[in-house]
Amino acid sequence: MLEVRDLHVSYGKARAVQGVSLRVGEGEIVALIGANGAGKSSTMHAICGVTKPALGAISFRGKDITGLPAHRVVPLGIAQVPEGRLIFDDLTIEENLVLGGITLPGGSERQRMARVLDLFPVLAPRTGEPASNLSGGQQQLLAIARGLMSNPTFLMLDEPSLGLAPLAAQEVFDLFVTLRRNGVTILLVEQNVRQALAIADRGYVIESGRIILEDESARLLEDEGLARAYLGIERQ
Ligand code: ATP
Repeated sequence: MLEVRDLHVSYGKARAVQGVSLRVGEGEIVALIGANGAGKSSTMHAICGVTKPALGAISFRGKDITGLPAHRVVPLGIAQVPEGRLIFDDLTIEENLVLGGITLPGGSERQRMARVLDLFPVLAPRTGEPASNLSGGQQQLLAIARGLMSNPTFLMLDEPSLGLAPLAAQEVFDLFVTLRRNGVTILLVEQNVRQALAIADRGYVIESGRIILEDESARLLEDEGLARAYLGIERQ
């Protein structure tokens, strides 16, 4: 579904991504794992057209989307839920959702919102409230719901469990499994490595802008280097 080949992203002289290649197949959940500053967000920004790649190629369902601006990428079925939620506190839950679907024709908005809210029973009765009334975990759910308002078939999430209490984080991970069942393919950036790999089919490990490891999730969880670096485990 998505293929990234030899992607390079630079900010002036800073080389954030240096030759990343990855693939995501339809129906998969794929985790992109790495420490702060490894280049995870830059990779996602390049895919969804927020940042222009310096080099490399990105294709989605066989169509070359390299360097396409975000407003042309989203209608193809790609959405990103950014790191830190970035919801609009002063707007209502409903208004936040409307903004998530702004690239689609207005006529289908009510239907889309009803379908999205079906997945979020905690948000559904509160759509008239300001988003600032929500707890951190609920705001994360709103950010995901907003991402779904553009009807994506491919959803990218940047650190969705960051700052959440364990139960709220688990709710978010459970939701991804439901979304996949509903036909959404997922690329997940996470530092919560164990939980991400528990639901992902495959994972890539990125370090200093380069992919250093890729494998099926179960095998990554057994990898000694990964366990030491990201799971805090010293194997005997
Ligand atoms: P984090 O989890 O901290 O967001 P990340 O793996 O997502 O980390 P990126 O945000 O992609 O990493 O950053 C990769 C590198 O690029 C870092 O060294 C970062 O400081 C740098 N960088 C990111 N955005 C910019 C920018 N807009 N201008 C300059 N440098 C940037």
